[in-house]
Amino acid sequence: MPNPPDSPLRERIKQRLEFYEDLGLGPFYRGRTSIATHDRTIAPALAASGLVPTLKQPSVPKTVLKTTAAPPAPASVLPKPLVPSVSSGPSLFDARIEGDSLLKIREDLGECTRCKLHRGRNKIVFGDGSPQSQLVFVGEGPGADEDAQGLPFVGRAGKLLTQMIEAMGLQRRDVYICNVVKCRPPGNRQPEPDEVETCSPFLFRQLDSIKPKVIVCLGATAFQTLLQTNRSISHYRGQWLDYRGYKMLATYHPAYLLRNPAAKSEVWKDLQKVMAELGLEVKRPKAK
Ligand code: SF4
Repeated sequence: MPNPPDSPLRERIKQRLEFYEDLGLGPFYRGRTSIATHDRTIAPALAASGLVPTLKQPSVPKTVLKTTAAPPAPASVLPKPLVPSVSSGPSLFDARIEGDSLLKIREDLGECTRCKLHRGRNKIVFGDGSPQSQLVFVGEGPGADEDAQGLPFVGRAGKLLTQMIEAMGLQRRDVYICNVVKCRPPGNRQPEPDEVETCSPFLFRQLDSIKPKVIVCLGATAFQTLLQTNRSISHYRGQWLDYRGYKMLATYHPAYLLRNPAAKSEVWKDLQKVMAELGLEVKRPKAK
């Protein structure tokens, strides 16, 4: 059979495979074997990507693999899967990488140009803190100070976060701090959906590598990315949530607190819940 001509579809599949390999999920590409059948790790991801026909879409979160759903093809034209059903295999979102480490994830990220945010950045802001921390704070993205220093939460909002951490009886080095996107959005705008989709798998890997007891989402973008929802943070703020088996709590971003200092008391209540969960002493104000 003649080789299929190069096509945009073929190029898209190649780029997508290379992207997964960058994430440490691979290698996948094995000659001209059917791309839909040759690997139980990539099969669900490809099926979800809409690049190959599939009977069932696996449960892959929208921001990981946002797709334009293809109409279902007749069963007779579908490639025969190697695994019994794509929906029974691991989704990309669920794929935990054995022996993954922050160092390896940083190496895989490299001098990343995977999304348009790379054009305006000075430094990638990967994350900072203890790789074995029981507590991870996840923010939205770097601002100007973070972009200049390559460290998360070092500007005004960062100083407030540091104060919050110290009020919990901890130091910054005791926790891990990172963001949904690793490069500064221009003008400190919110990251756009395609940027979140492209960058967030590295955050998922960071969390799986650290395996914290508690994740605190600072602001809506972090919470919406991890919980795969468009709902407002006010629906869930201060409640215990489940993120793939990790306890997660969403609270306001320190930048919001700088604009709305009255909300600090709400955040402090949230952090006290986290302290209780971590077995940290919750100091109660002395009665006058
Ligand atoms: S935001 Fe993330 S995906 Fe985009 S260029 Fe930066 S590191 Fe790469």
